[in-house]
Amino acid sequence: MDLGALVRNAKAVARQTQVPLLPMVKADAYGLGAVAVARALEQVDPFAYGVATITEGEELRAAGIVRPVLLFTPARPTDLPRLRAARMTPSLATAAGIETWAAEGGGAWHLAIDTGMHRAGIRWDALDPILDAVRRHPPEGAFTHFHSSELDDGSLERQDERFREAIACLPARPRLLHADNSAAIVRRAPSPWDLVRPGIFLYGVGSGVRAMLQPESVVGLRARILEVRVVRSGEGVSYDATWRAERPSRIATVACGYADGLRRQLGNTAVALVVGTRVPIAGVVTMDMTMLDITDTTADVGDVVAFLGAQAGDELTVEELARLGGCSPYELLTGLRQRLPRFYSGGG
Ligand SMILES: *Cc1c(COP(=O)(O)O)cnc(C)c1O
Repeated sequence: MDLGALVRNAKAVARQTQVPLLPMVKADAYGLGAVAVARALEQVDPFAYGVATITEGEELRAAGIVRPVLLFTPARPTDLPRLRAARMTPSLATAAGIETWAAEGGGAWHLAIDTGMHRAGIRWDALDPILDAVRRHPPEGAFTHFHSSELDDGSLERQDERFREAIACLPARPRLLHADNSAAIVRRAPSPWDLVRPGIFLYGVGSGVRAMLQPESVVGLRARILEVRVVRSGEGVSYDATWRAERPSRIATVACGYADGLRRQLGNTAVALVVGTRVPIAGVVTMDMTMLDITDTTADVGDVVAFLGAQAGDELTVEELARLGGCSPYELLTGLRQRLPRFYSGGG
């Protein structure tokens, strides 16, 4: 992956929104490597990093990241000591959670407000149960999360309004209010809030309607051709022989399969780039290997195949591959498995 492009995407977000970033590096930075991503993003001076599990936060700490790390998944009271030991910031939404955090030593926490996603946080219109605890132990920040910010359906505006209403009910305005994910970031400038939480935009995937901003692509997925064989007319390739040669065909084998995150559904559907040409995947993707029909090319053993990324002026995007694989760009990226060796370029 291209860390230079990642950083340029982050700078574009900062320019557009005019507020500090809270980059989401959960799920190992969407499969790309949280430590490498966080280290590269240090140069944009983010306010904090966002994670989904305590283990993810501990990994950043072990790598020497000292900025705040926010946990966006609800933490159980029994998790709080471990969270504190990793100097993480919890998002809380119950009086019991707030009181436990304070009793065990306090420190920064953010209030999670549910304005319509109905996943996590306290309802915007039912804050009463926590108001005493919030008065005694004011949060550093408060946030909400949009459920449909890539749509132009009025829901983002409605959730913003509910967030405003909720904040007005609190004893005091928390210092840091945040709501915008990537799809919200690209459709408004500057941000109405104090921080923004970009995820997928940083990793090179644009989104939604009314995008004022497009990211540079960041991710490549490449493998070398290991074998080339000629199959005869009528012969099949891969499991179930779903691909049949209509002519004598040159078939290339590369060591990248669905256990690496190249989804099985891409068989007989997606293309790859090799020697500057788009070639079809022949047959189903297997666990560890994938075959390509390179009959119309000069490709041979040792040539580099790109399933994602640029080659010779052409490019396969995450969006394109996800569509062909019948999944979202988020699933495709987070599915790029640990087994893949990762190479980083453009680092600072
Ligand atoms: C994942 C996540 C984001 C980032 O979403 P993108 O669509 O990838 O920008 C922001 N906020 C929260 C709470 C999230 O869970």
